[in-house]
Amino acid sequence: MIKITNVRLRGKEGLYSVEIKGGSILNISEYSGETGDLNGMGNLLTESFAVPHLHIDKVETGDMVEKETVSIYQLGGGADEAIRKAAEVKKHYDPEKIATLVTEKFLQAVSNGVTFMRVFADVDSYAELKGFLGVLKAKETVKNFLDVEIVAFPQQGFFTDRGAESLVEEAIKKGADVVGGIPWIEKTEEDKKQHIRISLELAKKYSKPAAFLVDDAPDPKLRTLEYLADETVKYGLQGKVEACHARALEVYDKGSLYRAFKKVKEADISLVTNPHTGKYHLPVQEALNYGINVALGQDDCNDAYYPYGSCSPLEVAFLASHLLWMMDPDGREKIYDMITWRAARAAGLERKLEAGKRADLVLLKREDVKQAIRYHERPAYVFREGLVVSENL
Ligand SMILES: [Zn+2]
Repeated sequence: MIKITNVRLRGKEGLYSVEIKGGSILNISEYSGETGDLNGMGNLLTESFAVPHLHIDKVETGDMVEKETVSIYQLGGGADEAIRKAAEVKKHYDPEKIATLVTEKFLQAVSNGVTFMRVFADVDSYAELKGFLGVLKAKETVKNFLDVEIVAFPQQGFFTDRGAESLVEEAIKKGADVVGGIPWIEKTEEDKKQHIRISLELAKKYSKPAAFLVDDAPDPKLRTLEYLADETVKYGLQGKVEACHARALEVYDKGSLYRAFKKVKEADISLVTNPHTGKYHLPVQEALNYGINVALGQDDCNDAYYPYGSCSPLEVAFLASHLLWMMDPDGREKIYDMITWRAARAAGLERKLEAGKRADLVLLKREDVKQAIRYHERPAYVFREGLVVSENL
């Protein structure tokens, strides 16, 4: 048993003590000056961070790709062109090198307070299974520190890249946890719809969740999120689907936006937004107000699409707080939800700092959410299932 004393909790006045036993939160009580195992010094204790979207096989490849991909992607409108140029780097994938790089990245994430990650590994005719196998090896290496779900992701499409479908299935058989999809990359509306069906069919067949990258350009004609919501309901996969990016929704007219929201809510799809990696982004406040689960993703760490990134949800929160203009007290709390319990929920997990729940927690070096986002430092302690997995003093 561990007793953490003298901590602040979100949404509560005063100081508390939290007891952890057997990987779960046993008890939360008012702090009365008692001695425990760890004195929080009046700082904030919250749920740990989750990363629901990161292109993990591409981390630290930014210097290996053509310089123009970042500008093509970030100025909007050219994501498919950037994806084609960035694909070249995958021809040189080496599973061992990727395993080393990804292990480092996983451990960096843990030191930044992350205890769960859903990561995307490209499986296509460029990467074949090389990137995926490297990520799988890294997942095994860090299994005592971090929970990882690997998405078998057909980055180049199913119809634009014949052969990707069987590679995704092979990856699932070899241990991938989530079926991926990127329907908006296909050339025709029918191919886009069929792409979604292929992914959901595999999800159904192997009883896996599914994660998609949708409508990643400022084009109001892109409607794959809506198609995805329709098909999710048809396949009975409500609550098991995550949709990332959806940048096109920023340029939708209000009627189209709310028609998409209605369908997304009915399908219980979680949306993951990454406003720091592109000029356009999902209208986050509107989606949250509509009752949709929205989370923040890391998306990239120094690759063809984004030159920065350090697997730090607090850094992502700091950037998103500016980009989404969510700096008021209510906005900050919502931002913090999007890197903690909402990010976990996007992957179908429940994370709450309550008695009886899993003890995945961070003890921060600051006393409230405002200061935590402002300084976006590593937490003092990171707990996974009640055990300390990182200490940064
Ligand atoms: Zn992405």
